[in-house]
Amino acid sequence: ESLTKHFPLSPGILSKNISVVRAVEDVSFSVSAGETLCIVGESGCGKSTIARLLMRLAEPTAGRVLIDGTDIAGLKRNALRAWRRRMQMVFQDPYSSLNPRLNAGQIITEPVENFERLSHKQRKALAAELLRKVGMLPQVMDRFPSELSGGQRQRLGIARALALQPSLIIADEAVSALDVSVQAQILNLLMDLQQEMGIAYLFISHDLGVVEHIAHRVAVMYLGRIVELASSEALFAEAVHPYTEALIAAAPLPDPTRVRASVTLEGEVPSPVKPPSGCAFHPRCPLALERCRVEVPPLVPMGDGRVVACHVRAPARVLGSAPGNANP
Ligand code: SF4
Ligand code: MG
Repeated sequence: ESLTKHFPLSPGILSKNISVVRAVEDVSFSVSAGETLCIVGESGCGKSTIARLLMRLAEPTAGRVLIDGTDIAGLKRNALRAWRRRMQMVFQDPYSSLNPRLNAGQIITEPVENFERLSHKQRKALAAELLRKVGMLPQVMDRFPSELSGGQRQRLGIARALALQPSLIIADEAVSALDVSVQAQILNLLMDLQQEMGIAYLFISHDLGVVEHIAHRVAVMYLGRIVELASSEALFAEAVHPYTEALIAAAPLPDPTRVRASVTLEGEVPSPVKPPSGCAFHPRCPLALERCRVEVPPLVPMGDGRVVACHVRAPARVLGSAPGNANP
């Protein structure tokens, strides 16, 4: 709810008017049980910072993180531990996130052993069950990460995340390091597990092909803000925000019959250290008006649960004004 994260700049790179990096700016969304919400955007848009804020690996500058109505941002250590069981992360690079000195069985049962002691027999039974869940044979438990393929390692990363039976799994670029064929296997595995266990996923990705495959809803971020949020179906059928449109137009098309959008994405992503005034997308936007340089567009509900922040495509209705008057 209204999550904001500003990182202070180190004094060495302080300049006159800039003292913070605006990594995340007033971001609100919810994820329900059994739902996959994807956050998509170019690198540096604040996606990973959101993951860190949810996991409380970083403290928000403002805003709240609520799980079943409880604000976890204010919790002290012990209370937080209990809540943290319910949220697990799967990382991009399974190799660097798995301890190379532990075997697969130890790796995937470790989260449980942080909370309770397991006998040798219990650990083996749990490891076998978790391996089965992610489509691997029990024999794998004696192997080390270096003896496994990238796809197998990511299955281990998922098994590890499942160990505590979380309500929410946050997957940050979880398939980006994998071959395309292996990506599909892992995405299908995640979807099967969701069906079986009702887990919610917050799935962070820069890859629209992956997002289209797995998302129920999609939040598009640009320089720290959500600029469009809609059901996956609606978003891929019709992008409303010019940035969403450009992102989709820039992505490789699995469906060659689909019509390309007219907007193309030009120019570099501006830095979150000095984001452009008004709508941060205005330097790259072909529809930009004078007003876009000055006013930050609010997120406006478009019906069907879609929200869009754009002065042109989603003009905010001013109460009492005649329709169409505000933006001819
Ligand atoms: Fe483009 Fe203006 Fe809409 Fe921003 S608010 S996306 S600059 S038209
Ligand atoms: Mg990232």
